[in-house]
Amino acid sequence: MIRLLCALVFLPALLLQTEQSGVSVITSVRATSTTDSTTIRIRAARTLTAFQKPERTIDGFVVRIPSATIYPDALDSSVIKPPLGCRVERVRDILVLRFVCSTTDTMTIARDGQRDVVCTIRPLPKRRSEPESTMPAKTAGKWSLDVIVIDAGHGGQDAGAEGVNGVFEKDVTLAIAKKLRDLFKENMPSTKVVMTRDSDVFIELFRRTQIANEAGGKLFISIHCNSMPTKPNPAHGCETYILRPGRNDDAARVASRENSSVKFEKSSSRYQGMTEDQIIIATMAQRSFVRLSESFASTIQREVKSTTPLADRGMSQAGFFVLVGASMPNVLVETGFLSNTNDAEYLASAAGQTALARSLSVAVKLYAATYQRSMSH
Ligand SMILES: [Zn+2]
Repeated sequence: MIRLLCALVFLPALLLQTEQSGVSVITSVRATSTTDSTTIRIRAARTLTAFQKPERTIDGFVVRIPSATIYPDALDSSVIKPPLGCRVERVRDILVLRFVCSTTDTMTIARDGQRDVVCTIRPLPKRRSEPESTMPAKTAGKWSLDVIVIDAGHGGQDAGAEGVNGVFEKDVTLAIAKKLRDLFKENMPSTKVVMTRDSDVFIELFRRTQIANEAGGKLFISIHCNSMPTKPNPAHGCETYILRPGRNDDAARVASRENSSVKFEKSSSRYQGMTEDQIIIATMAQRSFVRLSESFASTIQREVKSTTPLADRGMSQAGFFVLVGASMPNVLVETGFLSNTNDAEYLASAAGQTALARSLSVAVKLYAATYQRSMSH
């Protein structure tokens, strides 16, 4: 209460002071949506002298306003209500507004009078507008799972986990990914398969879903291997994750190990502020296909359990950076534990890699059939 009173007493004074010192004060940020666009109106107390063009981030856009500050409570609930999100920070005298939206959207900015700046978010033309409850990718009335994206975890200087037998996660994931690609080519010739990498190179985490989105992917599978801090370790088995805030310590441990790949990136600043709240917002942005991701994840677990000796650890959820920003159903498969002697041996073997690729391709086929049925009703 005292803080509220202080705010009421001192804010007009602050406003006057900052206006006089040439600092713009943003008094409101409000969003309105139509079926094909969202407009965000940023209003200043007086003339807004400058603003920068929106810049794309891992989960939306950032707009910077030099020499500016913002009124407390300026963010209207319309800009923080999913699927939109907004967070504010001040870097020196620059006001930074980070908007969360689909990464396949575009954002334009324009002045509207002296005090207002208007940002318009529109889906890229190829996506067209999707009504609230739609599932992804109904092309010209005809359903198709026409593009599948396979993401082999790690690569290049990022070796991932090292097995008890000396095998590297990056090599296992690439081997399984290539076998999976070949199986798709053989069994689903009309489906385009996109690999985020098909050689031993490092790809930044955000770039992986960007590749998937740009390719118009309808399904994203990120392949990894689990590992415990001490080895050999009895923990073993396969688990499949979907993007949601971590539910337990084990899930958080897995996400934190996988997210540590950002240390190999030139600029990890895009992940700063990727807090639990941001993961929640990113999850909301995926709300239209979270059920499909779940259904795909549980199908993978069923298939791996029935066709490989790997134990079924079930489906889980955590905040994986590599899944943030995907505009399609997506999962991350922790195929097995490289810190476990039996799992590591299986994962390093051609037979094990083939069996895993096979179970993933069967899971895709089963998922595709379910998806098709759900689309035709
Ligand atoms: Zn990994």
